[in-house]
Amino acid sequence: MTDETDKPDISGTTPRRRSKPDILEIGGRPLKPSTLMMGHGFDPMLSEGSLKPPIFLTSTFVFESAAAGKRHFEGVTGKRPGGAEGLVYSRFNGPNQEIAEDRLGVWENAEEALTFSSGMSAIATVLLTFVKPGDVIVHSAPLYAATETLIGRILGKFGVSWVDFPAGATPDEIDAVVDKAKAMGRVAMIYLESPANPTNVLVDVEAVSTVRDTHFGTGEDRPPIVIDNTFLGPLWHHPLKHGADIVVYSLTKYAGGHSDLVAGGALGTKAHMTMVRAMRNTIGTILDPHSAWMLVRSLETLELRMERAGQNAEKICTWLRDQPKVEKVVYLGFPETERQADIYRRHCHGAGSTFSLYLKGGEKEAFAFLDALRIAKLAVSLGGTETLASHPAAMTHLSVPDERKKALAISDNMVRISIGVEDADDLIADFEQALAAI
Ligand SMILES: *Cc1c(COP(=O)(O)O)cnc(C)c1O
Repeated sequence: MTDETDKPDISGTTPRRRSKPDILEIGGRPLKPSTLMMGHGFDPMLSEGSLKPPIFLTSTFVFESAAAGKRHFEGVTGKRPGGAEGLVYSRFNGPNQEIAEDRLGVWENAEEALTFSSGMSAIATVLLTFVKPGDVIVHSAPLYAATETLIGRILGKFGVSWVDFPAGATPDEIDAVVDKAKAMGRVAMIYLESPANPTNVLVDVEAVSTVRDTHFGTGEDRPPIVIDNTFLGPLWHHPLKHGADIVVYSLTKYAGGHSDLVAGGALGTKAHMTMVRAMRNTIGTILDPHSAWMLVRSLETLELRMERAGQNAEKICTWLRDQPKVEKVVYLGFPETERQADIYRRHCHGAGSTFSLYLKGGEKEAFAFLDALRIAKLAVSLGGTETLASHPAAMTHLSVPDERKKALAISDNMVRISIGVEDADDLIADFEQALAAI
């Protein structure tokens, strides 16, 4: 008779792809994320010694026994708290997705992370988890255009309303907006995006958290604070430390980092993620195994890429702002007000590598500059290894009404730039010749 303990462990919370515990510290020294990215969450010995995780292209997983299958389904359906203990069906979980999730969570010390088929599907799944008809969403403004459409037009069809405050709002302004929201219905969520795109204005997450606690205490109907951390995370901004409950990502950007995949993420406490996971299980917004594998590959170089891009951006912005054809450079490293400088000091570890360049002139000058670029590519998106430049007024924000464009300073002379990991002086040479072409 074999002893119970000889059998593979399928009853605990440890997934079966780990035969031994991860090494998380050495001699009392907790290992850094950049080290953990090389092995955390994957045991090669469970996959023929393969150094890199194989891509598990399967739609379903074989159970050890009928009892194990029952136990897994109890976890998946929420009959027993704690989620699935093993792999069940690829709409719920998979080895590649779980490795990506374990590693993603490390950067922000999140209890749990989930991956999604895109940034928007992550955001949609989180919203559907917490919002019901009659509810109100309080949000910072502006938001990523598709997020505004989702909250305003799509959830609006289901009787959800919203009220917003400008990204840079003071605690008193945020407080007044929450008051207004409470008069409209149950406040289901406070949704933030920082820095706002393309204005680069930071949200005071700590202030939002204090206002939320003043209004809702620790009661049952305390709305979660959700924040889109795509622009600065996971390296330069850790909003879970400043009072946010859930961080959402377009992993298509810095985390994927090579402009070759589309993915999304959500990170937070186990309690919140259990609810989000149940919605993901139901609607099937999980990331596919191949993209999850590519994401794991990308996370190995995340710190290298982001640090290099950040250093490049600092050097380039410092050069750009002194050029005679440049009106101004809106970059987090050059805060425009004392309040923004204060939020930056309290919340950020770096200024990122995406900024707005205002040229002297209008659309004609901006287009001449963009068309003359030889290294930087003319494309929307950000956070890739290559430098990209675009024209928000004529591209990403084309359909924004003129008045709102004006309020957001999305003018015809504005160019949006995401700096990559090329040589900084080569990029400066490119920008210099493009400025000369105006
Ligand atoms: C790109 C982006 C999204 C949407 O992500 P997808 O991966 O394209 O779905 C959401 N928020 C921000 C801030 C983004 O830049």
